[in-house]
Amino acid sequence: MTLPSAVPPLRHPEKAARPDRASPRKPPWIRVKAPGSPEYHATRRLMRELQLNTVCEEAACPNIGECWKEKHATVMILGAVCTRACTFCNVATGRPDALDPHEPQRVGAAVAALGLKHIVVTSVDRDDLADGGAGHFARTISAIRGAAPATTIEVLVPDFLRKDGAIETVIAARPDVLNHNLETVPRLYAEVRPGARYFHSLRLLDQAKRLAPAGFTKSGIMVGLGEEKAEVLQVMDDLRAAQVDFLTIGQYLQPTPKHHPIARFVTPEEFELYRRLALGKGFLMVSASPLTRSSYHAGDDFARLKAARAALLSASVIPAKAGIQGERHAFPPGPPPSRG
Ligand code: SF4
Repeated sequence: MTLPSAVPPLRHPEKAARPDRASPRKPPWIRVKAPGSPEYHATRRLMRELQLNTVCEEAACPNIGECWKEKHATVMILGAVCTRACTFCNVATGRPDALDPHEPQRVGAAVAALGLKHIVVTSVDRDDLADGGAGHFARTISAIRGAAPATTIEVLVPDFLRKDGAIETVIAARPDVLNHNLETVPRLYAEVRPGARYFHSLRLLDQAKRLAPAGFTKSGIMVGLGEEKAEVLQVMDDLRAAQVDFLTIGQYLQPTPKHHPIARFVTPEEFELYRRLALGKGFLMVSASPLTRSSYHAGDDFARLKAARAALLSASVIPAKAGIQGERHAFPPGPPPSRG
């Protein structure tokens, strides 16, 4: 008797009934080289050996050839399956994996083996966990500190919707950068990020800054999803009201025909205009280009972010606070102060 071959589970079961909407032809400024350098393969081998997921692969990031050649991989913790079903995202949706208690140590080992100055750690959404995975983030930060004490750590966290105390747990582990992406303008949330709430995400960023005022906060959006310029400018104002330091803006690319369609390709000139407008609104740093992703060149950008703050402090534009300059970790030691 011939057994039927196993059918792999659908990566995006919730999108199966959506109509196909083909991606328009990419303009010349979007083209990237196919990955294939020896360093790319070495990074890939290490991730497989240590059984780590990366958002570079799961999100089909166009920069993977360039980033992995430099050993810059963004590790994705808490499994490879997400409990949300955002229409822009290529990460698989479904019943999530059991939490792997050894994952933090493996992430630490990978950071040490790669010899990274700066690491970005992100995750899937884990609405099924009581703390949304915040404790796992904190343990991962500690494991990296143990394995690679000189490495600076950036966490790109989910929104921890309805997870009281989660952001406090992550901040108490003292990441150098707390990143949470708004992804798009509020009008498009119901279609693009249906499980999320725009003002909750803004509050999360605001709370992170209040918990650790000397820390860096960062957020990003994609453009080309159907947003208007005035809406992007409003998002910038909202992020500044939450005292976010660093803004990233990149072109949305459609992972499959079932995903949210590309409304248009934003030109490099428009990205440059967004960059200048955002800097004028007071962000310490802005990265805006077609291929900008929140973790793209994150290490170099972190160095620039620190330099930008140091320049502001030395110019006395903002009052100097003990502990901001000259320390390796941006967040102050010890438990964060409670919100007043
Ligand atoms: S931009 Fe970020 S997600 Fe994309 S390959 Fe580079 S590190 Fe990975």
